[in-house]
Amino acid sequence: MYDFLIIGGGIFGVSTAIELAKRKHKVGLLNPDKIPHHLAASTDVTKAVRMEYGSDTEYFQMAEICIDRWHEWNDLFKEQLYHEVGLLMLCKDSMEQSTRSYEKASFDNLVSSGYKTDRLDAQALSERFPAFNPEVYKDSNYNPRAGYVESGRVVELMTAYARSLGVNIHESQTAEEFVIDKGQLTGVKSREGSTFNCGHAIVAAGAHTPYLVPELKPYMKTTGHPVFWLKCDSPTNFKPPKMAVFMAEISNTGWYGFPFLEKHGIVKVAKHTHGQNIHPDQNDRRVSDEEVEDMRRFIEESLPDLSNAPLVYTRKCLYTDTLDGHFWIDHHPEIKGLSVSSGGSGHGMKMGPILGEMTADMAEGKSHRFSDRYRWRHLTTDTVHSEEARFVMDRRI
Ligand SMILES: Cc1cc2nc3c(=O)[nH]c(=O)nc-3n(C[C@H](O)[C@H](O)[C@H](O)COP(=O)(O)OP(=O)(O)OC[C@H]3O[C@@H](n4cnc5c(N)ncnc54)[C@H](O)[C@@H]3O)c2cc1C
Repeated sequence: MYDFLIIGGGIFGVSTAIELAKRKHKVGLLNPDKIPHHLAASTDVTKAVRMEYGSDTEYFQMAEICIDRWHEWNDLFKEQLYHEVGLLMLCKDSMEQSTRSYEKASFDNLVSSGYKTDRLDAQALSERFPAFNPEVYKDSNYNPRAGYVESGRVVELMTAYARSLGVNIHESQTAEEFVIDKGQLTGVKSREGSTFNCGHAIVAAGAHTPYLVPELKPYMKTTGHPVFWLKCDSPTNFKPPKMAVFMAEISNTGWYGFPFLEKHGIVKVAKHTHGQNIHPDQNDRRVSDEEVEDMRRFIEESLPDLSNAPLVYTRKCLYTDTLDGHFWIDHHPEIKGLSVSSGGSGHGMKMGPILGEMTADMAEGKSHRFSDRYRWRHLTTDTVHSEEARFVMDRRI
């Protein structure tokens, strides 16, 4: 009998399991197959960590706290999981222009919070970050307090840490049905035929969350986003300090990428935009030829040295999208002992160091300084999508 049963071994689930175990609760966690699961959104080689959230000061503050904690986790796990290589916001024209409100507001938030950043014109960009086409990017900002995490490795080490705290990790167990008695959840049945009795179940199943909790379907959906690995044989200009995590006019194009990854010999780029509506179990998650051509056009214009770089791997990774772009951390409105921690909406990994405490507080019926806007809420197709970095037409997804 568990006090809390976590459904899902991604960053939302494992960070919550650790926090609840630290609070001396009896915790179990279910996940299909192995953790990190090969199809999980958290399972990747890199995820960006940034405070650059446009005019959104709450995500700015959350990211600020998380960056400190990512450093602590490097110490805790005795491994460099978070690489503070900095973040480069590239703009094709002056940041002061209205079409670049995301970049300008992010820059203003950094400066007004006392962070020293380097504003670069085309000349300075070509000297400092020579891989980028200075003909294209006229105004950029480099913030050294940012970087990327090795997200799959993070989840792997956190799972081992959760086990060491007494969390029962049940791999190869897929939650399928809730056992509910007079409106109170008492257990979870798995597809593999087991029943797990618990006082409270927390659904942190990523893209499968709206399928396990169908009441969420009007507010939460699954979208697919392409990721590209380009083989880089001459990495000199693609390594820090000549390269950083970069966002290339991201709020108007969606394009972003990472420095050269020694372990894989590649430069990874991806697109943070609408994505494609996908059912997590009914789609082959193949990246289309059109998406590859779109990537080639971006590379040719922005990183010409990679124009002929072989494409060695592609992946369609899934966002658990809420219509407003905010996480979803709350109790189910009708079923007692059932709650949700999900809705990463393409930007949840960096918040790993704070998601666990936010979810544990919610589960224990406490409020957290950052809990209000992630509560159960009514959203419609008219809801404005508010994650400002994301290239979303008409701010609707
Ligand atoms: C292409 C891409 C790029 C991204 N880039 C960034 C970035 O740069 N920075 C950033 O901060 N965030 C980024 N994100 C977002 C971030 O990866 C996600 O918000 C976060 O990883 C979501 O974590 P999760 O735990 O909700 O889901 P997941 O990591 O998907 O984990 C869910 C887990 O639940 C399990 N599960 C599913 N169904 C069941 C079931 N029935 N029973 C039991 N377990 C189940 C799955 O196997 C999986 O292990 C990106 C996401 C994508 C897709």
